[in-house]
Amino acid sequence: MNKEKRTEIFQRWQTANPEPKTELAYNSTFELLIAVLLSAQATDVSVNKATQHLFPVANTPAAMLALGVEGVKQYIKTIGLFNSKAENVIKTCRILVEQYGGEVPADREALEALPGVGRKTANVVLNTAFRQPVMAVDTHIFRVANRTGIAPGKNVREVEDRLMRLIPKPFLLDAHHWLILHGRYTCIARKPRCGSCLIEDLCEYKQKTA
Ligand code: SF4
Repeated sequence: MNKEKRTEIFQRWQTANPEPKTELAYNSTFELLIAVLLSAQATDVSVNKATQHLFPVANTPAAMLALGVEGVKQYIKTIGLFNSKAENVIKTCRILVEQYGGEVPADREALEALPGVGRKTANVVLNTAFRQPVMAVDTHIFRVANRTGIAPGKNVREVEDRLMRLIPKPFLLDAHHWLILHGRYTCIARKPRCGSCLIEDLCEYKQKTA
């Protein structure tokens, strides 16, 4: 895909949705970190249903620690992998309290060292909370980048690096959200909705649906 097409795609997404947001509910960087940690292999809707009860009782690392693993489990047991996620939440909160004064560090290495926090989660927090122009490639972004031809790659890291290099700079900060929303609602996995796609004439996918 050439630069002009790529620019036009992001211009259209920006016009349609000038301030794209994550669909995870949160009121602080700490809440965002916990919500993203809980969202691995789970939908944002299921995470929001759990955190709407969890965050009012524990919206700081210290409060979460006081709840303990079993306490956290009671709030998140409707989410997949809740046992290991509850343990990671508590281990992460302990590190935040003991090493970062209860704050979430704005640093990739420090974030990735937290239990349950991988590169993708760190990128979401860096981008959404700290407004750094980084790219968290999830299953939706991986699919959209490959199908459209915006930034094809064999694995998530390759796609991440290409997106970082190829997305025009003015769009980089919000590109993560536009790509996810496009993959979640239009360029869906099984049968993409090409007939109602905003970028159908620019997309280079060879098997578009009617
Ligand atoms: S035209 Fe179809 S395949 Fe291409 S981005 Fe749109 S929905 Fe996805």
